[in-house]
Amino acid sequence: MLDQNAIFDVIIVGSGHAGAALAISLRKKGFTGSILLTGDEATSPYERPPLSKEYLQGKIGDEQLRIRPEEFWTDQRITLAMGCAVTELDASQRYVSLTDGRTLEFNWCVLATGGKLRRLKCEGADLAGIHSLRNLADAKRIRNQLSTVSQIAVIGAGYIGLEFAASARELGKSVTVIETQDRVLSRVTSPVIASFLEEQHIRRGVTFHFGQGVSALHGDGALQSIALEDGTTIPAQMAICGIGIEAETGLAETAGLDCDQGVLVDSCFRTSSPGILAIGDCSRHPNPFAGSLWRLESVQHAQDSAETAADLIIGEISPYAQVPTFWSQQYDLRLQSAGLNIDADDIIIRGAKGSTPFCAIYTRKGQVIAIDAINAPRDFMAARRLIQQGSKPDRSALTAIDIPLKSLI
Ligand code: NAP
Repeated sequence: MLDQNAIFDVIIVGSGHAGAALAISLRKKGFTGSILLTGDEATSPYERPPLSKEYLQGKIGDEQLRIRPEEFWTDQRITLAMGCAVTELDASQRYVSLTDGRTLEFNWCVLATGGKLRRLKCEGADLAGIHSLRNLADAKRIRNQLSTVSQIAVIGAGYIGLEFAASARELGKSVTVIETQDRVLSRVTSPVIASFLEEQHIRRGVTFHFGQGVSALHGDGALQSIALEDGTTIPAQMAICGIGIEAETGLAETAGLDCDQGVLVDSCFRTSSPGILAIGDCSRHPNPFAGSLWRLESVQHAQDSAETAADLIIGEISPYAQVPTFWSQQYDLRLQSAGLNIDADDIIIRGAKGSTPFCAIYTRKGQVIAIDAINAPRDFMAARRLIQQGSKPDRSALTAIDIPLKSLI
């Protein structure tokens, strides 16, 4: 049964970075229609990057996390339905059903459902003290327990694992990282950057176990130790599990939208069903820098895809062609990455490998396709432009630190 007058011009499913950015962008672009932003978390939209860093360390509180102050949403006539999940999407009748019992029609529906966590499946995975770190509630739980523990295991050496490890070391905790691959950040960066970061963590007291899965988690109700596949036992009262995400496509799949490791979309984030878009982590789009369908997990992509979707809704087609960018903060090290290093045939080191600032610049047939810059923001910004332009600068100019990359644009 449809609620009377319950028609929204735009219903956004998911209030993470992508969903919030879309609502904000629509108003910035002058869209005057009605907007409903729904999210299954009770809190109004908040920034996630600080959760594994400043928030965890108690340097900032909930208020500083907010993407916009509470009154912004009312002032901008953006209706929030927080703590309210969408349980059904009917693509042909064009309505959604919410957990609060409402059924609402839409002109546009935008899925910004993000990712769902991969979870450990071994014995003891449900013991107290084992955490994920994806949302504010997770961060609060971890923060509350942190002061009571001394030995922490981090499972997975991706962004989450390494950022958490750095925060925990700065709080004086003993930290052991367990990773199934043979190095850190294997999904996103090259061995040269990975070994630099690993060394920095080791220098600050982190212990690593590579090429190792967890075989069991032990404890009497609460975690006490972790058994690795090779028989090693690691004492730990807390474990943070950062073993990756998968696209959250449940709603899209039951609505009959085309999905394949993400909701499939075109370069304007249109799904296979008219009037339904998918943006951010949950969508898989034709990416000009990947040369194929690609799913990006980053705040930058959440924002960029929201901009493209907002343009489409206001009637301006602007296919997505942004250079993918990522960043991570670990201790005093800021890693900024641009482009995708797929099929790079050369890695050019700019600066001294073992000390900052330094960069790895990735080329394919001489063309700059990606950069990882550590404490080198100027090189990062300039390289992003070189990537966008498809530049093929002289190799020697890329290595010469006395030649600003900016001068090669
Ligand atoms: P991730 O970057 O995919 O890294 C997870 C790592 O854990 C992978 O190397 C994975 O190896 C490994 N792994 C998988 N199963 C394991 C197991 N059982 N035991 C030990 N290691 C295992 O994912 P994440 O760090 O969890 O991050 C989740 C999401 O948050 C991502 O979307 C990430 O981009 C985002 N995030 C981003 C930032 C940032 O941009 N600064 C910060 C925080 C979070 P396999 O590849 O073999 O599975």
